[in-house]
Amino acid sequence: LIELDGVRKSFGDTEVLKGISLNVGKGEAVCVIGPSGSGKSTILRTINGLLPVDEGFIRVGEHRVHELRSDREMRPLRRQVAMVFQQYNLFPHRTVLENVAMAPVQVLGHDPEEVRERAVRLLAKVHLDGKESRYPGELSGGQQQRVAIARALAMQPEVILFDEVTAALDPETVKGVLETIRELVVEGMTCVLVTHEMRFAREVSHRVCFTDHGRIVESAPPAELFDAPQDPRTREFLAQVL
Ligand code: ATP
Ligand code: MG
Repeated sequence: LIELDGVRKSFGDTEVLKGISLNVGKGEAVCVIGPSGSGKSTILRTINGLLPVDEGFIRVGEHRVHELRSDREMRPLRRQVAMVFQQYNLFPHRTVLENVAMAPVQVLGHDPEEVRERAVRLLAKVHLDGKESRYPGELSGGQQQRVAIARALAMQPEVILFDEVTAALDPETVKGVLETIRELVVEGMTCVLVTHEMRFAREVSHRVCFTDHGRIVESAPPAELFDAPQDPRTREFLAQVL
């Protein structure tokens, strides 16, 4: 479903992605791990077209992302690919339900009543039933992040990109968010996840990519990558974080 080949990206004189190649099949969950500054977020931002690349090929479904130039050309891609960030950026003066239901009505033009029902179902799915009329400020960080996930799902995407969605949360609320993501993966949602949660990466993903200095150094099923890393850089990184 997602294919990157030889993707390069520089900021000024600094080459941040040095030839990234990655394939993610439908229903696959791929975790991207690696040191700070290695290019993990940049990879995600190239997949949904947030960041134009200098070289290489990117395909998501039938979209040839590297060829899209304008916002108008990007629009169909953006509907197919949702992204959830560390900062959940909910609208503080809208209720939880409104936060989830807004975009499908305003962006996709779906029927408000239908979207409302879908939003109620999605909030139950992320275990937030009963919180529909609350405001984001009344929820914990973990609950707000689950609203953000429900908001992403409300757009009925084919792919969700997660960028360190638990990094800013209190430890006690991390678990619920990871559990919600795990359920999505089990249901077959295609996901690319940047995470520092190694245990989660190991238990949930089908494949783990270790990035360092703008390259994917090693890519393998989690059991292989964590138990028998092949590259010395992977070993060194894992020794520090495990
Ligand atoms: P972290 O774990 O800290 O989030 P990361 O692996 O996600 O790190 P990226 O955010 O992809 O790293 O950044 C990779 C490199 O690109 C960093 O050196 C960063 O400073 C640089 N970079 C990212 N975005 C920009 C930008 N818009 N302009 C200039 N440099 C950038
Ligand atoms: Mg990052």
